[in-house]
Amino acid sequence: MPAKYKPGEYAAKLRIKRGDEVEIISGKDKGKRGRVLHAYPQVNKVLVEGLNIIVKHQKPRQSGKTGRSGVQQLQEGGRIEKPAPLFVPKVMIVCPHCNRPTRVGYSYQEGEGKPAQRKRRNCKHPECGQTLD
Ligand SMILES: [Zn+2]
Repeated sequence: MPAKYKPGEYAAKLRIKRGDEVEIISGKDKGKRGRVLHAYPQVNKVLVEGLNIIVKHQKPRQSGKTGRSGVQQLQEGGRIEKPAPLFVPKVMIVCPHCNRPTRVGYSYQEGEGKPAQRKRRNCKHPECGQTLD
């Protein structure tokens, strides 16, 4: 059994947020980039626009309802394409300054606001080091 996590505790560890650009670093979609649409900290996954597309094939089937003519209505079949959440270790954030995937470092800024607001994510490339927030 996984250890019970307190709400917010695990979530704070997710290095990738909604709106970030990420690159896939393993698997068949390796090297592809997209923007994070949603983060799921509890399951350590992110939903990325246009990546990890899964295709669901829906067979046409009888809906069970009977139309006015007395003929059973057909539910339309077809292919439904939608992105599936990706496991966070499979992606890296893309630094908007040097345009390369990077690991995330943290720094703390002096100044106003709560400690959490002074925390900044940084690009880990030594010659870049720009903030990602
Ligand atoms: Zn950078």
